[in-house]
Amino acid sequence: MKKNLEFPPRYFTYLKKRECRNCGKPIADQEHAGRTYCPKIYDEYDKVVDCKTTLARINDQPDRDLHRNLINEQKFFSNRIKALVEKKGLEVYTDDLTAYDIKLSNAVNMNLTRDGILTTYFFNYSIISNPITNKHKIQYNG
Ligand SMILES: [Zn+2]
Repeated sequence: MKKNLEFPPRYFTYLKKRECRNCGKPIADQEHAGRTYCPKIYDEYDKVVDCKTTLARINDQPDRDLHRNLINEQKFFSNRIKALVEKKGLEVYTDDLTAYDIKLSNAVNMNLTRDGILTTYFFNYSIISNPITNKHKIQYNG
């Protein structure tokens, strides 16, 4: 029987079960110990494919996602406030805010004066709250 001789011998083992931190492809035991990503390779267009760089780029993304979430959240509250104003007018009670899922703590910004008047700023609206009367004046800021 003819022996299949390959030189240099190219065999890889995966006993250490290392995986690329980006794409999860197995990393051969023959790769150096510190390797945590696929080796850098060049694709058919000579563009570098590098899992380490790719992952770094993905890790930048949460910032953008966070920003988008914040905008979506504010749009949500804007719509809730709009619906509340249409139903109840520009002066409402804490119970009304609660009924419309409007949480003052979700405001973009807030200001508390010495006499305890809290102004919370949402996209398009600000709400001026009197904690003693539990009344809230809603202002449309456009
Ligand atoms: Zn990879």
